[in-house]
Amino acid sequence: MAPAPAFDRMALIGVGLIGGSIARAARALGSVRTIVATSRSEPTRQRIRELGLADDVADTSAAAVTGADLVIVCVPIGACGAVAREIGPHLKPGAIVSDVGSVKADVVRAMAPHIPAGVHFIPGHPVAGTEDSGPDAGFAELFINRWCILTPAKDADPSAVERLSQFWKAFGASIEIMSPEHHDLVLAVTSHVPHLIAYNIVGTAFDLRHVTESEILKYSAGGFRDFTRIAASDPTMWRDIFLHNREAVLEVLGRFNEDLSTLTRAVRNGDAETLYKVFAERRAIRRGMIQFNLDSPAPDFQQPDSKPKADPIPRPYAASGDD
Ligand code: NAP
Repeated sequence: MAPAPAFDRMALIGVGLIGGSIARAARALGSVRTIVATSRSEPTRQRIRELGLADDVADTSAAAVTGADLVIVCVPIGACGAVAREIGPHLKPGAIVSDVGSVKADVVRAMAPHIPAGVHFIPGHPVAGTEDSGPDAGFAELFINRWCILTPAKDADPSAVERLSQFWKAFGASIEIMSPEHHDLVLAVTSHVPHLIAYNIVGTAFDLRHVTESEILKYSAGGFRDFTRIAASDPTMWRDIFLHNREAVLEVLGRFNEDLSTLTRAVRNGDAETLYKVFAERRAIRRGMIQFNLDSPAPDFQQPDSKPKADPIPRPYAASGDD
C-alpha cells in the first residue's frame, strides 16, 4: 500500500526547472494530495496546465497559498521578498513555507518579515540543477543523490523541520542543516566562484584573436568543455546569486586571487619547485576525498555519498539526469 501523502495541499509559487521538478517528483511519489501552482506569466501558467503539473493553476500567488499546508517558493532570489509580501496575509496557520533559492541569508532577510507568527518558515536549497529553465526542463529524478540544505532559524519548530526533511528525503535527497550565512560561504566556494571562473574563462578564450572559434570548439574536449557547459547556465539566476551573495563571494575571490598570484609568479619565474609543490598538494586533496569516500573518481559532483541510492521514483518516471 502506498504511504499516505505527507501534506494535504502543496502550493508551488514559480514553476520552472526546480518548481517543475518538485511537482513531478511529488506527483510520482504521491507526496501530497493536491498540487496547486502558479507562475508570474500567463504563458507559463498555460504550460503548467498543458503539462498536467498541478491539480489547480491559480492566477495569483495569494490565491495559490490559500489553504495550503506546504508552500514552496521557486522564483529567482531577487523576487522572493515580493512573493513573501504578497502571500504573507493569506498563509494558513501551521503551514510550512520554504523556498529553493541558491543564496540563503539575503533571501531569509527578504522573506522572514512577511511570514506571520504561527507559520513555520524553513528556508531550503536543493543543490541540484541543470543549465535549462522553465517548466518543460523539470524532471522527477533531479534530486536523487543530491543534497538539500535547510537553514531554519534556531527557534524553528523541530517537528516542522523534520516534516520538510522527510518530504525532500522521499525525492532521494540527503538533508544537511546549517545557518544561512554558513550556507552562503560554502556555496560561494563550491559553486558561485567556480561559476564566475567559468564565465570568465569562456569569455577570455573567445576574445583571443589569434585562436579561432573553430579551434576552441575542436580542442575543447578537456576541462574547457565543462566550463562552456557551466557558462550556459541561466543568466538571471546567476546575476541574482552574485547580487545577493556578495560578501561571501568577495571573501572567497580575495583568497582565490592571492593563490592565483602565487601561481602566476611561479609561471613567470619558471619556478618549478613551487609549481610542483602546489600541484602535488592539490592532487593529494583530491585523492584524499576519494579515499575517504567523499567523492567517487567518476566526473559527477555534488553527490552526498559515493554509493548510488535505490531509485525512489517509480517507473516510468525514473531516468538519469545530468547536473
Ligand atoms: P526558472 O526555470 O527560470 O523558473 C523561474 C520561475 O520563477 C518561473 O515560474 C517564472 O515565471 C518565475 N519568475 C521569474 N521571474 C520572476 C519574478 N520577477 N517574480 C515572480 N516570479 C518570477 O528558474 P529555476 O531554475 O527553477 O530557479 C528557481 C529558483 O531555484 C532560484 O531561486 C534559483 O536560485 C533556485 N535554484 C536553481 C537551480 C538551478 O540549477 N536552476 C538549482 C538550485 C536552486 P514565468 O515563467 O511565468 O515568468
